[in-house]
Amino acid sequence: MASAQRPVGLWQQVAQPVAKIRAETKLEMARGVDQSKFMRGDRRKREICLTFDDGPHPGKTERLLQVLRDESVKATFFVVGEMAEKYPHLVRAESLDGHEIGSHTFHHVNMTKVTPSVLRQELTQTDLVLRHILGHGGELLRPPGGQYDSRTIDMARSVGYTTVLWTDDPGDYDPKIGADLILQRLIRDASPGGIILLHDGPETTMAILPRLIRYLRAQGYTFVTCGQLMRNSRP
Ligand SMILES: [Zn+2]
Repeated sequence: MASAQRPVGLWQQVAQPVAKIRAETKLEMARGVDQSKFMRGDRRKREICLTFDDGPHPGKTERLLQVLRDESVKATFFVVGEMAEKYPHLVRAESLDGHEIGSHTFHHVNMTKVTPSVLRQELTQTDLVLRHILGHGGELLRPPGGQYDSRTIDMARSVGYTTVLWTDDPGDYDPKIGADLILQRLIRDASPGGIILLHDGPETTMAILPRLIRYLRAQGYTFVTCGQLMRNSRP
C-alpha cells in the first residue's frame, strides 16, 4: 500500500496519554487477566515484559535489536501495519531474534474514533501483513495511545487478538523527558507481572535499556514476552 512520507519519528507525532489510569482501569488491573484484555501478569512472579510500540523504523530498529541481543532479552514489538509492510525485513529480524510481534493497527489510529468497518480493516490488514512476513498472524494488539473501549476489544477478539495495555509508561516518546528521569520512573514503578511501555525509535530508550535491564535482573526479575507473561498468569 502506498504510504505518504511518514516521518521516521512516528512516536513523536502521536499524542499519547501519560499513564493516567482511571478508577475503572485500576479495578481491572487488580483482576489482571480477563477474557478479552491483558493488563498485567501474575504479581507473585518476578516476571516483567518490555514492549516496544510504533516501529519498525529503519536505522533505529536494528540498533534496538542489537541492544536486546547484547542483554539477552526477549521482548514484544507492537508494530504499525503500514511500517511493517514497508520494512518487512525488520519485522522478520525481530522475529528471528526470538521477539514476539503484535499489532498496533495499520495506520496507528485511535481505535475508538473510527467506524466499525475501518476498525476491522485496520486489524485485518495488519494481520495479513504479519502473516505474509512471519507465516502466521499475531495474537496481541496494543491500541494506539491506549485508546480502547468494549467495541474495540470485541472487534480485536473477533480477529483473534487479545488487547494488551501496560502497567508502566515512563514517557519515553517525549523528547523533552530526559533519559535519567525515564530510568528513575521505570526503576521506581517496576513490579512483578509488569508490562513496560516503551517505543521503537527514541534514542533515550536505547540509552537507558542496558541499565534498566541490568538493574531489574539484579532485583531478581526475568524478562519474558507479553504472550509468555499472559500464559504464565493463567491459573
Ligand atoms: Zn503507538
